[in-house]
Amino acid sequence: MKVFSIPIVVVALALCGLGSGCGSAMLSDEHLAKKAKGHFSQMKKAEKLSSNASHKAMVNRIGNRIAGIAQVDIPGTEWEFVVFEKSEANAFAMPGGKVGVNSGLITLSGGNEDEVAAVIGHEIAHVALRHSNKRMTQAIGIGVGGVILETAMRQKSDTNRILARGAYGAGTAVGLALPYSRTNEREADHRGLLYAAMAGYDPRAAVSFWKKMVKSSGGGRVPEFLSTHPDPKNRIEFLQSHMDHAMALYKQAKEARGEKPNP
Ligand SMILES: [Zn+2]
Repeated sequence: MKVFSIPIVVVALALCGLGSGCGSAMLSDEHLAKKAKGHFSQMKKAEKLSSNASHKAMVNRIGNRIAGIAQVDIPGTEWEFVVFEKSEANAFAMPGGKVGVNSGLITLSGGNEDEVAAVIGHEIAHVALRHSNKRMTQAIGIGVGGVILETAMRQKSDTNRILARGAYGAGTAVGLALPYSRTNEREADHRGLLYAAMAGYDPRAAVSFWKKMVKSSGGGRVPEFLSTHPDPKNRIEFLQSHMDHAMALYKQAKEARGEKPNP
């Protein structure tokens, strides 16, 4: 595990002025994107990358298609999609449009492109909704940032551990944000479902994917992705409650592409 240079929260606080009342001012998107870019490139050096050409092509194809839809909500983003060679079924995203997908997630989906799109849609939605930015601003507002800063000054390795806990999607070694709230997760599930559908991916795959996740945990250890995300049963019900809307968007998108929707 590499030690990363300047912890993002510390930088954010320095800009904000600890205790000087940031009010509800948001941290700048540009600043977060720049920091995330640095962390992501360090991560790519530290972790094993996939050499599976079809996995890489699939993730890039999905990512570019969904990012094309999300672009209207977060213009000018430099999206990047990387497949990490890791068995845990997981994915994450960072501010500025850096998205990582583990090979284990693709394996769990059985190579089902619609299912992988459901997860990538969710991650892209976190970025488009600026969840990391909001959580950090909020944390600074309630003083959590102060605790992190204090720890950071005492011991650098602690900071990395705290930051690691907050990685988008969880389970990665590098974090740039504090853990999401349940509301954030709901928003990302909803928005991600619609994004994937508008990009022409079958939104029902979100449900089949989450069923596979539940099954794969087999009553044993809950995968990290699940433990930090909403209860999968509630999640499936929530996704189902928006399925009519998503299906309508999916059918429209398929028609526009001159393709037939799945029955
Ligand atoms: Zn999430």
